[in-house]
Amino acid sequence: MTIREAYAEASSFLQRSGVREPQANAERLLEHVLGESRSGMLLRWAEPFPAEQEAEWHRLLARKAGGEPVQYIIGEQEFYGLPFLVGPAVLIPRPETELLVEEVIRLGRLFWPEGGVRAIEAEASPAGEPSRNAAGSPVVCDVGTGSGAIAVTLASQCPLWRVLASDLSAEALEMARRNAERLGAASRIDWAQGDLLQPWIESGELIDILVSNPPYIPEEDEAGLQAEVRLFEPRTALYGGTDGLVLYRRMVAQLAELPGLPRIVAFEVGMGQADAVSGLLRQAAEWDEVRVIRDLGGIDRHVVASRA
Ligand code: GLN
Repeated sequence: MTIREAYAEASSFLQRSGVREPQANAERLLEHVLGESRSGMLLRWAEPFPAEQEAEWHRLLARKAGGEPVQYIIGEQEFYGLPFLVGPAVLIPRPETELLVEEVIRLGRLFWPEGGVRAIEAEASPAGEPSRNAAGSPVVCDVGTGSGAIAVTLASQCPLWRVLASDLSAEALEMARRNAERLGAASRIDWAQGDLLQPWIESGELIDILVSNPPYIPEEDEAGLQAEVRLFEPRTALYGGTDGLVLYRRMVAQLAELPGLPRIVAFEVGMGQADAVSGLLRQAAEWDEVRVIRDLGGIDRHVVASRA
């Protein structure tokens, strides 16, 4: 059997098993098994499928046919152009969250122009590692960091910023730490296990930017979720209580316990939640602006409160 034939057979097997996008999934698994990029795989299209990889190939296909997200099977998901390790203890980073990171970087560079040096320039400096918490750069805190997608991306894009990241799950923090190490950002991130902002309230951190993509799915929507999400992604990363807003309410209440109000609070929200979350933020403090950002699917996806 050639590689092309293995691909065709796998696509039709996944399709018969009811997997969405069977061809794209077959392709990602094939690249993973062969250790090839897409173009490398196409160059080997007519070669025989390597016999020593056959058992592994069939194991992976069986997992995919059982509904498991391909990202957990291959152990990786790209976010903001960076390869993040993922596993069943963490939510798979979603492309819409890249827009949240982008907005935080944009506003952060606007408010702290001296801290906005790009990674490339900092790496090129003879001193090597940029100094932490350089004057004029913000402290940013990612609450519920999961895989570390937000925290690690911010630390690598904005190497002069100081990044704090917390999660309730020790397993998630372990994964986030591995990602930071793998992507060369470990020395710029402080981690804490704990409930939302609690660790930073206890250590009295002055947080300039709070960013969070908390669990926000209303519990009553569980039955309507895609099986891939409902059966495989961690429950604690998905559900935000009966109306989905519980974690926003608690974080907004915790703002008053911090030594100072952050100048930027940037939340990802679920469908139909933007007004309620904007309202919570407006009630809690005076802002110059509370902006809602729409994602590529046209859904109001992020709420960003700021004071210049
Ligand atoms: N912060 C992580 C992400 O955006 C995890 C979010 C979560 O688990 N709700 O991917």
